[in-house]
Amino acid sequence: MRKGDGDPPPAKAVARDIAPYRRGNTGIDFVHRFDSGRPGPSVAIAGLTHGNEICGMTAVTWLLDRGVRPRAGTLTLWLGNVAAYERMRADLPERHTRHRFVDRDLNRAWADEVIAGDLVSLEAHRVRELLPVVEAQDRLLDIHSTTYCGTPFFVYRDLPRARVLAEQVGGPSAHVLLGGGQYSGLTMAERGRFGDAGAEATCLVVECGRHLDAAAGDTALQVALDFLAACGTLDRDFVAAHRPAPAAAAPTRRFRVEQVFRPVHDDARFARDFVSFETLPAGAPIAFDGDRTLTAPFDECVILMPTPVIAKGRDMVTLARIVD
Ligand SMILES: [Zn+2]
Repeated sequence: MRKGDGDPPPAKAVARDIAPYRRGNTGIDFVHRFDSGRPGPSVAIAGLTHGNEICGMTAVTWLLDRGVRPRAGTLTLWLGNVAAYERMRADLPERHTRHRFVDRDLNRAWADEVIAGDLVSLEAHRVRELLPVVEAQDRLLDIHSTTYCGTPFFVYRDLPRARVLAEQVGGPSAHVLLGGGQYSGLTMAERGRFGDAGAEATCLVVECGRHLDAAAGDTALQVALDFLAACGTLDRDFVAAHRPAPAAAAPTRRFRVEQVFRPVHDDARFARDFVSFETLPAGAPIAFDGDRTLTAPFDECVILMPTPVIAKGRDMVTLARIVD
């Protein structure tokens, strides 16, 4: 496909019927795999890991609609929590953030004990379906969006190979580095070889802006195309012809996650409205949890990913330190 095939349709993040994508070619619903027949890495893009995060679906279905195929190795495209997505579509727009998942967070369900022990939740069942696909990948881009933050950013395990790949992709320029094991359950990006310092496989998570920003779809597609070019899966010429906006070089800013706060009370609340990337002085109040006030534990404490749905034991806000 070249530019002359007609301009690509706009990649707006808008919920729509995805039933036509259910039947892939892998025997697993909503999983599509293409083999170039040539040596190369196994590369994948995941959308709808969270049901209400539409932009990943936008990018994945754009790639499927365009009939994109790998020039080397394999390309696998999937939609994760379709059950939550379908419930979101059937619900009122103001309730969309409630449909991140159905029974449990799909992106906190990748530990062996959940996979083997949770025989009830829809999400653990889906993880068991997706596990062989996930574990087969050398490179994975997991596409998300946030409730409040319009600024796109990467999130990945702080491993040299992940830093290199994120730089090769190019954007977004804000990188959030995970030490591993900081969230309340194992994430897909930390599963198996992705989280193993001695392995080669790499997973990058990208947050593409706010859930309902139409531009988040363009950002998702842009990062997906740049990711596939960086992995050698697609020609750079094809990517240059189809990316929604020209590549914009900005210096990388890195933030290391120091703490993920989980309240012990359901009625915990934030001290003020946060979006993400606010920088607080040590001692500044962040949240109230019963009698306790969570304050910034160090200077230049960066607020990331405040949740709109607060519950005891659930990740409420991430605190990070500026690296460079
Ligand atoms: Zn998400």
